[in-house]
Amino acid sequence: MVPYTPGEQPRDMEYVKLNTNESPFPPSKKVIEAVNSLEVEKLNLYPDPTCKALISKLAETYGVGEENVFVSNGSDDILNFSFMAFCDKDKGAIFPEISYGFYEVYADLYGIDYKKVPLTKDFAITPSDYFESGKTVVIANPNAPTGLALTLAEIESILKANQNDVVIIDEAYVDFGAQSAVSLTQKYNNLIVVMTFSKSRSLAGGRLGFAIAHKDLISDLNTIKYSTNPYNINRLTMVAGIASLEDADYYKNCNKNTMEVREYTKTELEKRGFSLTNSKANFLFAKCGKIGGEQYYSALKSKGVLVRHFKNEKIKDYVRITIGTKEQMDVLLKKTDEILNEV
Ligand code: PMP
Repeated sequence: MVPYTPGEQPRDMEYVKLNTNESPFPPSKKVIEAVNSLEVEKLNLYPDPTCKALISKLAETYGVGEENVFVSNGSDDILNFSFMAFCDKDKGAIFPEISYGFYEVYADLYGIDYKKVPLTKDFAITPSDYFESGKTVVIANPNAPTGLALTLAEIESILKANQNDVVIIDEAYVDFGAQSAVSLTQKYNNLIVVMTFSKSRSLAGGRLGFAIAHKDLISDLNTIKYSTNPYNINRLTMVAGIASLEDADYYKNCNKNTMEVREYTKTELEKRGFSLTNSKANFLFAKCGKIGGEQYYSALKSKGVLVRHFKNEKIKDYVRITIGTKEQMDVLLKKTDEILNEV
């Protein structure tokens, strides 16, 4: 087996950490209050396995029924459950060749036959490549690490053309400017939208993901959950999740800031000769032009800035840069200028 390699978390020095798409902003004060309060004293007791209060708040936030919501320990957990539930040796999976690396890992883990579809030369997903697939379709929207998003109409075309198969849309980065497919879950019973609190709700360390889908798909995910780990959300994360949903304005502002800083950084990198995709996520996918992706990544690391480089031949010239605060991005730009002057 080849396991997934998470972004590095080195401890040798303080880095400007722009390599794992975390939010640079702390959770809202309401979250901190909720976690600090009486809840800690109740850690001797198991959490509610049905996650009723959290699910009810998510249902209210997204305008769906409680039977349409599933929560788990990060969206990775839900993607894992989805591969377990909706694919097997006979029912394969189909996903883009360049996408979130975990899809292939899950497929390999469960012995699932899968097809990887190449992107266009501009890294775009072509919806018709997924029509009549006869397989479980898995698409990250926006895609990672390219940041490119499909429109709602394009997602709907994939759903229409795969009515007998499950379509999983991974919306980990949707809150940074793409269109969510949640509304389509009312119309298509084959759609499952997977989201996370890790990025746009500053809760990567809390591990909380959720899915919205027709109740039959949610019921299948619950079957997997109750066959593996019924207490999949701990007490502290449960209250943190509810409190974040109650402070939507705070996160809206943080995300607005991230989108503005993304566009600022993109323009500044373009001025320095970089090529970038039109990212709708909290990261940029950037090619230096003057030096290779690995060399740029290493030079930045030696100057205390961490970004992510992927060894895949097709994207080896690129790096993925998480959008931090304006100050962090100015450090990245300053170090980039130093690197460009040195070559
Ligand atoms: N989907 C995509 C596309 C991601 O990039 C990530 C983050 N690595 C995840 C899902 C998983 O995020 P989490 O488990 O923190 O919710």
